[in-house]
Amino acid sequence: MRVGIGGDVHRLAEGRRLVVGGVEIDSPRGAAAHSDGDVLLHAIIDAMFGAAGLGDIGDHFPDTDPQYKDADSRELLRRASALLAEKGLRVVQLDATVRLERPKLGPHKSTMREHIAADLGLPAESVNVKAKTAEGLGSVGRGEAIAAEAVATLSDL
Ligand code: MG
Repeated sequence: MRVGIGGDVHRLAEGRRLVVGGVEIDSPRGAAAHSDGDVLLHAIIDAMFGAAGLGDIGDHFPDTDPQYKDADSRELLRRASALLAEKGLRVVQLDATVRLERPKLGPHKSTMREHIAADLGLPAESVNVKAKTAEGLGSVGRGEAIAAEAVATLSDL
């Protein structure tokens, strides 16, 4: 069994889309990023690459590459899963936390979970998404950023 950890943070900016776990959330501010800025999926992808010993998301999908401009992170998640399969590995379980002050992400957690499970070919029960605020503390608490952490467990195919 292999375990990997991943994390990501993006600055929030006016006029950007807020996409979390593949769900577009109504918000005046979204993640400033080269891709769609989906911190949750980026943290999960890094946890997968970490567990597989495959480096990090920037090694595989560099943000200097124009092909990843406004990239759909669900597509990146599916590609990451395919890279694991080439190494004879698959994700068996994921746990993640996303931190955002507002809007509340709680109502979207189950849809995020379904998206992630579908992209990885997992039952929804094998994917857990937790949503928290930062209680007004730090950059997330001031509404300047969105952050996520994830842990992935892999096994042989
Ligand atoms: Mg990112």
